Amino acid sequence: MIEVCNFCGNKNFTARQVQYIYRHGDKFLLVNNVPCQECDYCGEQYFEAPVLKKIEQEFMDIHLAGKSAKTTIQIPVEEFAHLS
Ligand SMILES: [Zn+2]
Repeated sequence: MIEVCNFCGNKNFTARQVQYIYRHGDKFLLVNNVPCQECDYCGEQYFEAPVLKKIEQEFMDIHLAGKSAKTTIQIPVEEFAHLS
């Protein structure tokens, strides 16, 4: 597991469960309660390779193999230039 933060050099981490957004092209998969180690200083999050592999596999199952996700949400989309 991570011992020193790549960004700030801090050595203290806290185990947390966070929301992870996997994106490939214009397709997304949002996964809740994903385990990670979060840097106590800068907040950078580190995920173990098997965790990311699992999410990637699920993404492919859903978007390529047609598996249905537990829940599907709609996300509003805006162009920054159009914001008032
Ligand atoms: Zn850090």
